[in-house]
Amino acid sequence: MGSPILLKLFEDNPQVATSVFRLIKQQEDLLTVNRAHSQLMAVNHAAGLHPVVVSQPVFDLIRQAKAVSLLADSCFNLTIGPLVKHWKIGFRGHTVPPAAEIQSLLPLTRPEHVILDPQTCSVFLQQPDMEIDLGAIAKGYIADRIRDELHRMGIEHALINLGGNVLAIGAPLYGGNRWAIGLKKPFGSADASIGVIEVIGKSVVTSGIYERYFEVDGKIYHHILDPKTGYPLDNEILSVTVISDNSIDGDIYTTLLYGMGVEKALSYLATIPYIEAIFVTKTGQIILSSQRQFKFTLLDESYHLA
Ligand code: ADP
Ligand code: MG
Repeated sequence: MGSPILLKLFEDNPQVATSVFRLIKQQEDLLTVNRAHSQLMAVNHAAGLHPVVVSQPVFDLIRQAKAVSLLADSCFNLTIGPLVKHWKIGFRGHTVPPAAEIQSLLPLTRPEHVILDPQTCSVFLQQPDMEIDLGAIAKGYIADRIRDELHRMGIEHALINLGGNVLAIGAPLYGGNRWAIGLKKPFGSADASIGVIEVIGKSVVTSGIYERYFEVDGKIYHHILDPKTGYPLDNEILSVTVISDNSIDGDIYTTLLYGMGVEKALSYLATIPYIEAIFVTKTGQIILSSQRQFKFTLLDESYHLA
């Protein structure tokens, strides 16, 4: 997945660890777009040609990603693939593409051109060269599958960190009665935190512009693209953290809320009580939505709790 994976258990149980890592590999084999073959790549390779039958879970995930992409003013777009590939942000060979090239790729990123047939469980990309990219929700989806697998094996206390998607199962067995999860300092060293988020049995997903980016002439180009312009999203936000029950919701909402900007995001969040968020802005503000599911403690005095 191109990101570090951590599994914390409170027992010496190699069998559990093995089956979790096997599950991650299986899921990656279905969903990756960074290799030549996966179920998703089969769909992408057949763009403009024919529908491809996928497994039910992959179909359901694509259906969910399409639905989120079609929400009014959504900046989530499952067909962002051609732009992501062109920018290569976070990969070797990243460049700022010529504006004309970005413009020419925008017509390939229309979610309504993803045709789903629930009867046959098939997916058809209507335009040649269209590409689905599930990078913005795959980790959340896989984290939830790991949680299900751990529950199935009777594990009630554990922590999974899939490259920034943290899923806490139950409470820690020792070292406090809540999980303490660090909120990363934007552009800080690997272990620098600006605060601590405390939860029990919740998902904590952070998406930040400092995670994968490159810099040209003092300007930062990061990995979350604005589907309207084809350029990295640009507003006052440095990172969005979402606290929720399911990690897939966290993964979806970090992108959606980031696209809204703080003000709109806060009024939107007031209508969905099960999703809560923490915003870190470029002016050093930390803004919290409601705090029913978590507790936040500020550690870095150079930031201000708004
Ligand atoms: P992270 O990978 O840092 O956890 P995200 O969950 O926000 O961050 O996913 C970012 C990835 O999603 C990008 O690397 C890219 O593959 C894809 N992506 C980029 N822009 C969009 C977008 N507007 N909508 C959906 N997916 C996107
Ligand atoms: Mg995401």
